[in-house]
Amino acid sequence: MLTALAGGVGAARFLRGLVAVVPPETVTVIVNTGDDEVFHGLHVSPDLDSVTYTLAGADNPETGWGLAGETFRTVEALERYGHETWFRLGDTDLATHLHRTERLRAGASLSEVTSEIVTAWGVRSRLLPMTDDRVATRITVQNPDGATTELAMQDWFVRRQAEPPVVSVRFEGADRSEAAPGVLDALDDAETIVICPSNPVISIGPILAVPGIRDALIARRDRVVGVSPIIGGKPVRGPADRLMGPLGIEVSCVGVARAYADFCSTLVIDAADAEHVAAVEALGVRGVVADTLMRDARIAAALARETLAAVA
Ligand code: GDP
Ligand code: CA
Repeated sequence: MLTALAGGVGAARFLRGLVAVVPPETVTVIVNTGDDEVFHGLHVSPDLDSVTYTLAGADNPETGWGLAGETFRTVEALERYGHETWFRLGDTDLATHLHRTERLRAGASLSEVTSEIVTAWGVRSRLLPMTDDRVATRITVQNPDGATTELAMQDWFVRRQAEPPVVSVRFEGADRSEAAPGVLDALDDAETIVICPSNPVISIGPILAVPGIRDALIARRDRVVGVSPIIGGKPVRGPADRLMGPLGIEVSCVGVARAYADFCSTLVIDAADAEHVAAVEALGVRGVVADTLMRDARIAAALARETLAAVA
């Protein structure tokens, strides 16, 4: 049994490789829900959907989000009524959000709905939201006039293209949230726990903020292996650097190692960062060098194999 902590796209790419080298049904994925947001009255869970669509082989490799062959006629039609449509929801993707919203309104938990969606897509791994409670990532940014404003994560990231400088981040509701059913058991029972190459601040951060999860990881530290999302001092894509810097996390695999050191015994870093192995190991984290830039599914599978071998 394997358990992985996951955000969206970086995690999904890694997990596609992982399920190519171990039986998919032995994998449990604990997914960030801090990015969840209501758009047009619909509950959207971007990271759960990215992982589901990718494991189903239905993801859009060009955009890196959403479904392959997607169209956007419905959101375009909404513009007629003056709706803001900066968060692009595809026509087919909408079916997922309609189903999720209807089931949540009928009283189902997010874990139950997630399991239905995953099954409907033929995905054989288990996907668990980190919590069934509402946790919302909020980003405080600096305005040009020096004042600060708190933004919802998608407002900062998608609508404002991650441009406003970040002052702080919080996970609203996390302190009163409970880990979703199965989450803590999946950490206690796993042979290996993988921290996917995801944004350390807003993908892995919210999962760690759910009471009990960080302690469960600390208890299993020697079985926890991470993959650095930072290569050569830069994220492969996305705004990790815009968040890590202001929060005092060095934008490098060494910064990732420092942020994870209390619960992660081993970190896989890119061959381009081989010179940093000593700095990683000085933090008490074993550094393992591999090709971590997942240009295709074959490289992702090789990376997954090396990641598991690193703590075997
Ligand atoms: P998001 O929620 O869609 O932003 O997804 P994640 O948090 O899971 O992934 C974003 C992170 O994945 C970014 O910090 C990227 O640097 C990282 N990432 C994306 N592709 C790769 C890759 O091929 N290799 C590595 N090592 N990291 C990657
Ligand atoms: Ca995300």
